[in-house]
Amino acid sequence: MAATKKYTGRIVLSFILFFCGAVNVYARTETEAVTQVSTIDALLSGIYDGETTIAQLKKYGNFGIGTFNALDGEMVAVNGEFYQVKPNGLVEKAKHSMKTPFAAVTFFDMDEALELQPGVNFTTFERVMDTAAPTKNIFYAIQITGLFRDIKLRSVPKQQRPYAPLSVILKKQPLFYSKNIRGSIVGFRCPQFIKGLNVPGYHFHFISENAKMGGHVLEFTVEEAMLQIDYTPKFFMLLPGDDEFYKADLTINREEELKKVEK
Ligand SMILES: [Zn+2]
Repeated sequence: MAATKKYTGRIVLSFILFFCGAVNVYARTETEAVTQVSTIDALLSGIYDGETTIAQLKKYGNFGIGTFNALDGEMVAVNGEFYQVKPNGLVEKAKHSMKTPFAAVTFFDMDEALELQPGVNFTTFERVMDTAAPTKNIFYAIQITGLFRDIKLRSVPKQQRPYAPLSVILKKQPLFYSKNIRGSIVGFRCPQFIKGLNVPGYHFHFISENAKMGGHVLEFTVEEAMLQIDYTPKFFMLLPGDDEFYKADLTINREEELKKVEK
């Protein structure tokens, strides 16, 4: 009897170890992957409710950007903490139970760091990245942390059904300006071939150092800041399984619409 009990105990233990091991291997491989929920074209077409919770999203990354169900503000995740930027630009910690219709995350794992010169803005930053990045054909997770001379941000107010298209909603987007503010710009540079799925080029959100203010970044000027780049060659998608997504017409070219929404 005693021997059987011991044997059973060992089997249980090896199962536990096997699953712990599997989770560890999974997490380690994920550090090189961007994982995204749904597609940018689904969001542009007005699918603003998803099933993926913040708790689930955390399994795929500790860093990233997105939005919440009913477009209830901008999402920004940094150092494992997920935040919700309210329509007034103020920030709250996102609850684990909150859901997202669109987000992209990764485990941030810096490959390269460089100091940005005072006066670098969104346009000149693109030139810095073109020099620093070895190729335009992979994803880069990007974090810029420091003091910003000025920054122009926006957030989105929570929507009611029937939902209007994103391009219509963002015509009235709440804008915020801030000067001499410390914080982090967080986001991605996606390759051009990603169009339809995500935003080709740069997509950044901001969170202040005191985690009180943030938003989707429209313009910025650096006073002193460190740029950290994470080369990310893998890409995973979590596509919604609901009726709304299944029935959406995602064959339409929304390139022009996206340009209006991102600026
Ligand atoms: Zn955004």
